[in-house]
Amino acid sequence: MKTKIIKVKDDNFNILSQAVEILDRGDLVAFPTETVYGLGADGLNPQAVEKIFLAKGRPQDNPLILHISDFRMLEDLSSGDLTKAKILAEKFWPGPMTLVLKKSNLVPDIITGGLDTVALRLPANEIARNLIRKLGRPIAAPSANISGRPSPTDARTTFEDLDGKIPLIIDGGSTRVGLESTVIDLTEDEPVILRPGAITLEMLREIFPSSSIDLSLVSADQVPKSPGQKYKHYAPKAEAYLLKGSLLEKVNKLSDFIKENSDKKIGIMGSSQLLSLFQASQIEAIDLGPWEDLDQVASKIFKGLRDLDRKNVDIIVVEAFSEAGLGLAIMNRLKKSTGNKYL
Ligand code: AMP
Ligand code: MG
Repeated sequence: MKTKIIKVKDDNFNILSQAVEILDRGDLVAFPTETVYGLGADGLNPQAVEKIFLAKGRPQDNPLILHISDFRMLEDLSSGDLTKAKILAEKFWPGPMTLVLKKSNLVPDIITGGLDTVALRLPANEIARNLIRKLGRPIAAPSANISGRPSPTDARTTFEDLDGKIPLIIDGGSTRVGLESTVIDLTEDEPVILRPGAITLEMLREIFPSSSIDLSLVSADQVPKSPGQKYKHYAPKAEAYLLKGSLLEKVNKLSDFIKENSDKKIGIMGSSQLLSLFQASQIEAIDLGPWEDLDQVASKIFKGLRDLDRKNVDIIVVEAFSEAGLGLAIMNRLKKSTGNKYL
């Protein structure tokens, strides 16, 4: 199969009609959202959705998020009390927040991995929303990468993973957030974050103070409630390690590590502060931005891992960040990328 890439220019969304046609006939289209690129299928067509699992090599028991374009779809696809959902939706939709709710009969089993709940998101990206609106049905879309790899934040990376496997990629430039949506379970008495993202625990608690975070996200021996969290995720090709401690400890550990591995090509991803203290020809450095600018850091980590893979480094060392606010989502991804290995 030949994979075509189209670009939306000057907000001319008419070009999306070819994408809608492909989705409508039950094939796949990769498209940008504000979080990462998604691999989309008509969410109400089980044969189309099955193609997502095949193209990505995704385990069948890892449920998919349905992307919607309005509140009407929220009501159609869920059942039960929507009071909390509507409060959160008013505040954070359109945006990087996914709500897990009791599902309605409209939702195919292949979407939910057999669960009686469904995950819904109303994305902010205009291309994504236009696509859903024009199709008139929800679009099922996980990240547009081969399972296990870092999520794509641009069309080029999406093409690298899916070339020859899908008919169309919509190029909408680099994604703004760079990390997948926050997944919030609303089926219990109080909201529970199943996957951290740009809508942080602190932001959620401003609305529902008793909100909590799934224990498996903070302690290694708990089984995750979000089925996808148990799988290998976001892994670069190179062996990767996290670098933690005070800035001084980080500098010392890294210097020793570089000396001990002088025969290796080493990739380092870190804050501008850390990188300004290192200069060596053997190193490929990816500057994630100032230590305190977590929005910028979040938007650069998956791209950084992909860039280092393209440069064929042997080892990747990534600086650890504080776990407050957006830092929790950043560290959640980095721990998985490195398989929780520390220098
Ligand atoms: P991805 O599609 O790779 O961005 O991952 C979607 C995430 O949402 C995975 O971690 C899924 O396990 C989670 N998810 C999707 N549907 C549900 C659901 N019904 N209940 C709990 N988690 C869900
Ligand atoms: Mg994914």
